[in-house]
Amino acid sequence: MTDLKLQVIPLGGLGEFGMNMTAIRCGDDIIVVDSGMMFPEAELLGVDLVMPDLSFLKENREHVRALILTHGHEDHIGAVPFFLSEIAVPVYGTAFTLALVDRRLEEHELEEEPQFVTIKPRQIVEIGPFKIEFIHVTHSIVSAVALAITTPLGVIIHTGDFKVDPTPTDNELFDLHTLADYGKRGVLLLLSDSTNSDRPGYTESERAVQPRMEEIFNRAERRVVVSCFSSSIHRIQLVLDLAKEAGRGVAVIGRSMVTVTEIAHSLGLLDIPDGILLRPQDVMDRPPSKVAVLISGTQGEPMSALARVAVDNHKHITVESGDTVVLSSRIIPGNEKAIFRMIDHMARRGADVMYGSMNPPLHVSGHGSVEEMKLVLNLVRPRFFMPIHGEFRQLSKHARLADHLRFAGLEDTFVMESGEILEIDSRGARKAGKVQVGRVCIDSGSVDDVVQEVVIRDRRHLSEDGIVLPIIAINRSTGRMESLPEIVSRGFALADDGSEFIQTARQVVAKTLEGSNPEEKNDWGVMKEKIRADLKRYIVKETSRRPLIMPVILEV
Ligand SMILES: [Zn+2]
Ligand SMILES: [Zn+2]
Repeated sequence: MTDLKLQVIPLGGLGEFGMNMTAIRCGDDIIVVDSGMMFPEAELLGVDLVMPDLSFLKENREHVRALILTHGHEDHIGAVPFFLSEIAVPVYGTAFTLALVDRRLEEHELEEEPQFVTIKPRQIVEIGPFKIEFIHVTHSIVSAVALAITTPLGVIIHTGDFKVDPTPTDNELFDLHTLADYGKRGVLLLLSDSTNSDRPGYTESERAVQPRMEEIFNRAERRVVVSCFSSSIHRIQLVLDLAKEAGRGVAVIGRSMVTVTEIAHSLGLLDIPDGILLRPQDVMDRPPSKVAVLISGTQGEPMSALARVAVDNHKHITVESGDTVVLSSRIIPGNEKAIFRMIDHMARRGADVMYGSMNPPLHVSGHGSVEEMKLVLNLVRPRFFMPIHGEFRQLSKHARLADHLRFAGLEDTFVMESGEILEIDSRGARKAGKVQVGRVCIDSGSVDDVVQEVVIRDRRHLSEDGIVLPIIAINRSTGRMESLPEIVSRGFALADDGSEFIQTARQVVAKTLEGSNPEEKNDWGVMKEKIRADLKRYIVKETSRRPLIMPVILEV
């Protein structure tokens, strides 16, 4: 027992935002906590999502015992399908988390049926040398848990994502008592969420959004269109309740919004008042004062429901003068351009668009601020501390915070980046080398509703399939395309300049442009996405290749 080693290896999410994944190894046995993705940065146009490199886990495949999920946000479960296709182990999570994973798996063909183990807070499961207790935490998604992992060397607490919300809208309180119990008995290592370590004070309760939403519903004379993250069940409940009070029917629009509300409803986590739901196709026939819409697309994603509505290209709804549009979400850095462009489109049409920070707030964070982090540190009082979930500056701020608290027993704090190994044995804890980590880009076919086979686009793949640049020259004064688009390609074997294939591809791009309405044409983000989707469909059909497609639009 004396030479038993415990290793904690963050494989993603430390020193970068998103794609959280941590391996915990005791002797030979490994469990993995979360398997998240991140959305690609703008430079990675042509890629749908980014996930952690699984090399380390693949090399140790026979030792991996389980995947444990803390909650259902994409940065914690988004890579589960890819994880399971490589490493088929049981997956533990709350019913809601697993239902969200299951929905993602429908888009993927797995060789083996996944083994799901549904857990509840306060439940304890034993996996090899690990004994894991699930502890309910408050967060912007329902059914989130922290983990207390008992090992032969001591207890590891992994908070998952959390805020300490004293008045959660579903009245499910953060189980601080259980956390404190572990603290009293002694905790070897704390891994704690650092997302908001640069925000002083306390994060506002989810309930703080209510006054603003009430005000909006009281004041609005015409349609109220609310967009929030589809996983924000608390927020969706609030909108349903306010709509009911105001005598408005609610249409739920957008694929993710529809499926997630269905899942939450079927699990008893969302109360949908009787008779309140409207069919999307009936929205425009109703008196505008009797309608509310819940719609996905807060980040201005070009093909999302709200972005389509913004350019008046949605089957069922149009935003009209006097309508109120509410973006009840954070503006994720990097998405500003797309979001503001979308808002401009709707404002131009005379809608009152509410977004950004205001008081009372339209949106509150799901992550605890400094005082909440201190509370957790104080309750857990670990011997070792490793901040997780955040860019390096947030991790180091969180570490400083722990050092300043100077509670008895804190021996050492480790600011680590993905891939570094923290090793703990009877003598203490230390950094002990590195494993291979990195980002893997995933291209899941076209972004519209056609779901295609998933292809992992690593570097080798890119070098095989090459790159295709459709170049569209638009006349600055007329807004029209002057000539057929050019197509430049590199490393894409079938693309000789004069070939029929390229000629047809040029026609495909031209057709996409012609088929778009003037507002879409003015929005280059939308146009690039549409061109990419249509051209990709053509190329895949003709060649079964998946080159990287990066449309370029030039004003001449
Ligand atoms: Zn989260
Ligand atoms: Zn997260």
